[in-house]
Amino acid sequence: MHSASVGSLLFKDLAEYYDKLERVSSRLEMIKILGEMLKELDKNEIADVIYMTQGVLAPPFESVEFGIAEKYMEEAIAIASGRSKEAVHGYYKNKGDLGIVAEELMASTKLKRMGQRQYTSREVYDVMRKIAGTSGEGSKSTKIKELAGMLASTTPLGARYIARYPLGQLRLGLGDATILEALSVMATGTRDVKDRLEAAYNMCSDMGLVASTLKEHGMEAIDKFKVTLFKPIRPALAERLPTSEEIIKRMGGKCAVEQKYDGFRCQIHKDGKKVRIYSRRLEETTDMLPDVVEAVRSEVSAERAIFEGEALAFNESTNEFFPFQETIQRKRKHGVADKALEMPLHLFAFDVMYLDGKDYLGKPYKERREALEGMLKNPSRIRPSTMILTDSPKKLDEFFEESIENGLEGIVAKDLAAPYIAGARKFSWIKLKRSYRGELSDTLDLVVVGYYLGRGSRAEFKFGGLLCATYNEKNDTFETVSRIGSGFTEEQMKELRESLNKIRVAKKPVRVDAVIEPDFWVDLKYVVTVKADEITRSPTHTCGRKKLKDGTEVGYALRFPRLVGPEAIRSDKSPEDATTTKEIEELYSQQKKVGLKE
Ligand code: AMP
Repeated sequence: MHSASVGSLLFKDLAEYYDKLERVSSRLEMIKILGEMLKELDKNEIADVIYMTQGVLAPPFESVEFGIAEKYMEEAIAIASGRSKEAVHGYYKNKGDLGIVAEELMASTKLKRMGQRQYTSREVYDVMRKIAGTSGEGSKSTKIKELAGMLASTTPLGARYIARYPLGQLRLGLGDATILEALSVMATGTRDVKDRLEAAYNMCSDMGLVASTLKEHGMEAIDKFKVTLFKPIRPALAERLPTSEEIIKRMGGKCAVEQKYDGFRCQIHKDGKKVRIYSRRLEETTDMLPDVVEAVRSEVSAERAIFEGEALAFNESTNEFFPFQETIQRKRKHGVADKALEMPLHLFAFDVMYLDGKDYLGKPYKERREALEGMLKNPSRIRPSTMILTDSPKKLDEFFEESIENGLEGIVAKDLAAPYIAGARKFSWIKLKRSYRGELSDTLDLVVVGYYLGRGSRAEFKFGGLLCATYNEKNDTFETVSRIGSGFTEEQMKELRESLNKIRVAKKPVRVDAVIEPDFWVDLKYVVTVKADEITRSPTHTCGRKKLKDGTEVGYALRFPRLVGPEAIRSDKSPEDATTTKEIEELYSQQKKVGLKE
């Protein structure tokens, strides 16, 4: 028996669950096993084990990185298994998975395990967290020593996950929806309370907190979750429609129409002078945006507020927006302060969720907008998004054209009566972008589910292309929609090959729905941006797959797909943020309407 402070579940037993999760063949089984695992945990350890299972140390907004390079892990494995560094490295090159290397080498190591105590899951988490906080001189050897100690304090199977966890390569194939359903199973034996758990999660973005609250206080406490300063709310997302007529029809008449800005989405939390900014992925970006922080302090009249806007480079002399390339420079690690002076970002605020003790999430748009305008007394660098109210498609079109002329992306129409719908894509916000009106020139964000080896002239890169999927929100699955073989620079091929090699998995991930096989399957981790000429029907892919009258089954596929943009991997999007199957279906029907051939 272990005391409560170190937790009760031994890491070797957690590893058994992880191994089972890797082996299951259906999502339902996955939820069942995860539910059983969660049941075994007590209230003091469940949050940490949840983070571990998500492959992180903390929720995204806490920005805690592991700070462990593969080289460190190789050295730790060498020490723990009594092999040379070179031998471990060679073995890794051969296997492509340090987890398997650790497992196999530890299994063939004659350790004097007699009397050695097994680490609990909580202890492993605590050591990982301690290592993450270690920096400076001598930190490398401390980290390696601690890692080696952990590898030796568990079973070979446990060592597999100790090696993978801090490298971000757990390969369990889980997503938020899977974990929420498993928590529901833990609490009730059914998936019935998933939506209530999700509502709480949407308000705090902290799965560990949801789990520990549930464990300790039950569903009653889950239903009482409220927005809290410095815990970001999961952002509302916009649906899309192709024409102003359809937008007005769907809105049922009069709606708000706002300019759509292409910059960084910022969720801003303010308590007096304390200001924190979170990205769309809920990572803290405060340090990147000192000018926005300053503007919040001087221009927001509310003492305490949570509000949202888009930050972008804006030329005050000419009243013009700079292109996105100027804004994106802020992502650099260095010279942020200089850049902020040279070209301060402007914030176009478009929503408010909390204001001086009052929760606005459930309030209708109209009321939120009034509150937003009210809290910006002397707008200069922060101003409310430009907005009109209309029920006329013609007016909407004029406003849209004007936005495009001003260098913006398009517009977002908003339902005047709708609350702020956290964490979901709903028709209370509908976007219209230039590109939908004609050909498929809008880009798609697709999840990489597998890749192909290079052949012919690509052989030397050992990279031939990607197998990509859309996200099916309804089923929490990923459906293949395209193989992408072009648009890569040599550098991108190298980057993709290296990154994907590290997350290879032995079989198709449970949440992937596919009828074709890539050379290698990978864990669900990366999103890429893709452009294509059109969407076609195809028997090769499972995206939106339906049985036709003649009995054949077809899905959607992309014609002439190619990778776009400077970044091969979209670091600002997670797999569940990818283009959905539903969006592909809509784009397909829009494409038909504008007369593109099938
Ligand atoms: P998209 O990324 O194309 O799905 O469009 C949604 C994004 O548009 C949001 O995540 C915001 O970052 C951005 N955006 C820009 N202007 C607005 C606005 N006025 N209202 C809501 N979102 C906006």
